[in-house]
Amino acid sequence: MHDVAPINPWVALAYLVAGVFFILALRGLSSPASSRRGNRFGMAGMAIAVVTTLLTHELANPIEVIGAIGIGAVIGIVMARRIAMTAMPQLVAAFHSLVGLAAVAVAAAAYLNPGAFGIADAAGQIFTVSRVEMGLGIAIGAITFSGSVIAFLKLNGNMSGAPIILPLRHVINLGTLAAIIGLVAYFTFDQSPWVFWTVTALSFVIGFLLIIPIGGADMPVVVSMLNSYSGWAAAAMGFTLHNTAMIITGALVGSSGAILSYIMCRAMNRSFLSVIAGGFGADASAGAGGAKEQRPWKPGSADDAAFLMSQAENVIIVPGYGMAVAQAQHALREMADLLKKEGVNVKYAIHPVAGRMPGHMNVLLAEANVPYDEVFELEDINGEFAQCDVAFVIGANDVTNPAAKTDKSSPIYGMPVLDVEKAKTVLFVKRSMGGVGYAGVDNDVFYMDQTMMLLGDAKKMADDIVKALNGGGH
Ligand code: NDP
Repeated sequence: MHDVAPINPWVALAYLVAGVFFILALRGLSSPASSRRGNRFGMAGMAIAVVTTLLTHELANPIEVIGAIGIGAVIGIVMARRIAMTAMPQLVAAFHSLVGLAAVAVAAAAYLNPGAFGIADAAGQIFTVSRVEMGLGIAIGAITFSGSVIAFLKLNGNMSGAPIILPLRHVINLGTLAAIIGLVAYFTFDQSPWVFWTVTALSFVIGFLLIIPIGGADMPVVVSMLNSYSGWAAAAMGFTLHNTAMIITGALVGSSGAILSYIMCRAMNRSFLSVIAGGFGADASAGAGGAKEQRPWKPGSADDAAFLMSQAENVIIVPGYGMAVAQAQHALREMADLLKKEGVNVKYAIHPVAGRMPGHMNVLLAEANVPYDEVFELEDINGEFAQCDVAFVIGANDVTNPAAKTDKSSPIYGMPVLDVEKAKTVLFVKRSMGGVGYAGVDNDVFYMDQTMMLLGDAKKMADDIVKALNGGGH
């Protein structure tokens, strides 16, 4: 066994306090009502961890370190202020890629100069346990990096959101994974550069291969899975750097991301394994675009919608990605307030993957001060569509598509959907009949007898309905 420098009890205590703050942050983030408090706990925990680390380490070049922190902080502040809510998922994917890259950089630095990290004997032989940590860190970090870059490109629209299916992909993926595991094990016997760099290269490749076949309804799971990987990569780095704060934080991110992925898989009726193995459920011929039939559909206006909803007893609002793009949440809340004044019972139905990130709709509705007790999760409200007079779908599409229940060739097959087609009347807000949802498939609800299509921008349509409800429409 090698000597490990004794840990200063004050440092250990400070890291422990930071860890407790991170746990409180996660607790706070579990509900929109307490999420701001949660964020503050997270910021305080991170400040304690960073300051403790800076104060208790001998910095070779403090100017460089502080300069780098300053540049990073400026970039972070500018990005956080400028970023549109709709672009949050790709921002998160970009952040995950940076965590992965940082893990690769730390592992590479430790490999090239193990003495400086205190992980080698006098002859320069890296300790076995450090080799295991380093091998895992580089593999998970590189997978997180390349996988997150692909997720970013898909979410940002630079790459098609549809699954890209390579022939023999399972054989190639399994072969590459087996090679990585074998080489990480071999690295414990032989620390030659070729072993280290081959693990790095293969891990970059497998990250890429694992994510390109995933598309449509499975993307949310991928985002939370990469979140989890980024946590494990950070934890592995923490072991290499002997930094308990990083181990705690990494493990918290890794396990909370894994739990979120599991919850999302259950919500999407997907098996975790098939999603991470890459596009198992996807059929190369299915989905993506597909020639759309010319079927009859009924157009409607804001006045029609205002009339129908003000006459209704129960209205269920189904928001989706289009509501987020249009920033229609405030107008929507105003519309709901006016309907409630007329005695209509208004509820919101939230699908677990509506929008482009977990909790997307909840955040936007909370921002518009929609009361939490009017907002319902899929399983709590789905039974109510059959008794409701109007389902008002605004900028949602895939999450209402009944093909998920019936069409085995559909990329969203198996995902639970909101049963809007059971409502007496469906009002469907979207910009055009040509536009499709994320999964790229047509939706039978558009063409049903009881559906009225309200074509237009979601915010403009909600504003017009508000005007009509106020008596200005006719
Ligand atoms: P969809 O992407 O299925 O549909 C969005 C709809 O909004 C489209 O019909 C579009 O039609 C319409 N729209 C877009 N802009 C506007 C606008 N300005 N005004 C009015 N309508 C607009 O959204 P859903 O929320 O139903 O489903 C989410 C999809 O995203 C699922 O497939 C999910 O798997 C996927 N996804 C979810 C993630 C998550 O974590 N929540 C992450 C990644 C992917 P038109 O163009 O005609 O206006």
